[in-house]
Amino acid sequence: MPILNVQDLRMYYSTLKGDVKAVDGVDLEVEKGEAIGLVGESGCGKTTFALSILRLLPYNGHFVSGKILFNGDDMLTVDDKTFNKEYRWKRLSYVFQGAMNAMNPVFRVGDQIAEAMLLHEDVEKEEAMDRVRGLFSLVGIDPDRVTNYPHEFSGGMKQRAMIAMALACNPEFIIADEPTTALDVIVQAQTLQVINDLRAKLGLTMMLITHDLSVVAQTCTTCAIMYAGRIVEYADIDTVFSEPKHPYTKALIGAFPSIKEAKRELVSIKGTPPNLLDPPTGCRFNPRCPYAMDICSKEVPKFIGLGGRHYAACHLLTGGDA
Ligand code: SF4
Repeated sequence: MPILNVQDLRMYYSTLKGDVKAVDGVDLEVEKGEAIGLVGESGCGKTTFALSILRLLPYNGHFVSGKILFNGDDMLTVDDKTFNKEYRWKRLSYVFQGAMNAMNPVFRVGDQIAEAMLLHEDVEKEEAMDRVRGLFSLVGIDPDRVTNYPHEFSGGMKQRAMIAMALACNPEFIIADEPTTALDVIVQAQTLQVINDLRAKLGLTMMLITHDLSVVAQTCTTCAIMYAGRIVEYADIDTVFSEPKHPYTKALIGAFPSIKEAKRELVSIKGTPPNLLDPPTGCRFNPRCPYAMDICSKEVPKFIGLGGRHYAACHLLTGGDA
């Protein structure tokens, strides 16, 4: 049984102009111990999808249909109290975007991490602080820095402290949302190394959300490409880079530099992701796709198996048939 099994999930935001279809029919399975990268441009629904798993959507976000099964339990039907006590942070946790501003500036970093333990577990403050020191060592921060305030930490330390906070209650599944955005390349590499080391040491299952394919290449075992609220391609990481089948995946890869092809010209993807208040009909990539055919604006392409765990949704793969 996969640790996470998402079935036909639809999460919309209510606005005065109508529903924004941020997640619109997503199916995804994550096996225990796997590190899956969720990749796509900004505005493709990645963060909404991840926040849905922890039921952390803003007030106007609402569930339309589907299931989120975590170890077989449907996360959308568990009552709030049980979800808070037994799942959120304890078994499923989150490294939020924007480590620079994610902590409360007027509380000590160690206290903020210990708070997660005190809220979700039956521990005394002393024991919680000892565990925070252990977590600091694990993520490469001097344990004596637990009494520091956030402004005394560098950007890289703040990011590692956010990872320590996500690990506070020994969760089985961690979602890291753009964990390296806004970090310089050296600190980014250090943070990715911390993530890789933790996965190896703790056997964590992880979902990493990013627009940066190179981050996924360095940390993940599988990859799901998301566009305009839907998954358009899914495969193990080597297959995504060596045999991409969806034009959007190919376009993303073409827009990133490669060490192996240093002289290759980078090609940006024309246009921008659609407004999900009124997305294009059929394949949502059709207004930007260089291979678009008549059928593409009329029929939603099926997600088809291409061998092994490789799947993609494009009419080119079925010869133009729906
Ligand atoms: Fe392009 Fe059509 Fe494939 Fe969509 S279904 S990616 S528009 S070829």
